[in-house]
Order: sequence, then C-alpha cells, then structure tokens
Amino acid sequence: MESVAGILRNLWYGFTTVVFPNLCEVCGQTLVTGERTICTKCLMNLPRISQSAPRGLNSVERKCFISNCCVAGTALYRYYRHDPYSQLIKKSKYQGRRDIARNLGVMLARERKPTGFFDTIDYLIPVPIHFFKRIKRGYNQSEEICIGISSVTGIQVTKNLYAKRGHKSQTYKNATDRWNNTEGLFAVKNPKQLENKHIAIVDDVITTGATMQHSAMVLRDCVPGIRISFIAIGTTEH
Ligand SMILES: [Zn+2]
Repeated sequence: MESVAGILRNLWYGFTTVVFPNLCEVCGQTLVTGERTICTKCLMNLPRISQSAPRGLNSVERKCFISNCCVAGTALYRYYRHDPYSQLIKKSKYQGRRDIARNLGVMLARERKPTGFFDTIDYLIPVPIHFFKRIKRGYNQSEEICIGISSVTGIQVTKNLYAKRGHKSQTYKNATDRWNNTEGLFAVKNPKQLENKHIAIVDDVITTGATMQHSAMVLRDCVPGIRISFIAIGTTEH
C-alpha cells in the first residue's frame, strides 16, 4: 500500500506539472522523457556556429583574441536578439531560471567534448557580476553555465575574477560605449592559482567581445604563463 508521503509526493508532482508544465523554452511544446529545457526538434535546429573556421577565425575567436596567449573560443549558437532561441538566455538571466543556464552549459559541453576542446583546460572562470547585482538576481548566470559544463567535463570552476564595481547594462550600448563601460572593471583574486594554467573564461553572450577582452587582459597582465580560451552560449553576428 502506498505511503502517505508517496501519495502526497504524487499529488504534488501532478500539481506542479499542471501549474508548471515541462515545456520547451523555445517553441512551447510539451517535453517528453529525456528532453530538458528544449525539445529535440529545437535542439536539432539550433543555429550553431561553424566549427570549421581556421584557428583564431571563428566568430568568438575573432572578437575575443587579444594576443598569442589565447588558445581557442567557442559558442553553442548564433544569438539574434529577436529569435525564439534568444529566450533561453533572456530567461536564464532575467527570469530567475538558473536551471536553464545550467542546462545550456551541459548542452555546450556535450557537443564540444568530443572535439577535444576541453582536453587541456585546467579551470573554468565565470565572467563575474558585481556583488549587488548578484544579491538582486540571486545567482550569476555565467557561474551556472560553468557548473553545467563542469558536470560533463569534470573541470573545476574557480571564481578567480571579480568585478570591482557595478557596470550598467550593456544591452543597448554601441561598441565604444561597451569598451569604456568594462575598462578597469575586473580584477584577479588569486593569480598564483592560475600560473602556467590553461583557463576558459565563460560568459552567456558575446556581442562586441569587450567583456571577454577586458577579462582576458587582466588575467594576461597579472598571471605569468597563462593561456586563455573563451566559451559563451551565444555569439552575435559581427
Ligand atoms: Zn521546441
């Protein structure tokens, strides 16, 4: 005979699936067993970035590489602001859906792991957000992406970068404003930990690359022998 706890658990599950049905976050279809966050059809149609460009020339690398300490860059898909796929990042950032950020990290890691992208990376470092923003949002979405990647690759996450001050939303800024807005923003907590290591900086979306470049510069200037790769979920077209 079923226990009271079991009955309550089933009732609760029934309640949550009615009130919060498990839907694809892109097209709204009900997810089936084995699908998480997005349905198989949307996963297949994801606007992936080309992985065949010569070294240093894919969309992420062109925007982020600052010097020859940079190793590689990748993103899961091409980000268009009004495309349904942009909802994945918007919800993970502005609607409290840290579960989506984690799953995006898992998806990216599963797709890139077989290519050897992660083979020599020692640490994942999330692009930091300022303390006050973190309190307000409750989490840093880049850190959640790192946790997702780490669960597949086993690479350790280290929050070795921090934001010295808050910075305004980058959403509607032009390239020059974005550059000035992030200059001098980041600092390294413990340079010793990263000496002669290969690290990957992780962010949700790369637009002009200013945030990634400033993060990389501070790491390059503070840490002897560091090698840097770049990972984002989305990258814009330019
Ligand atoms: Zn879908």
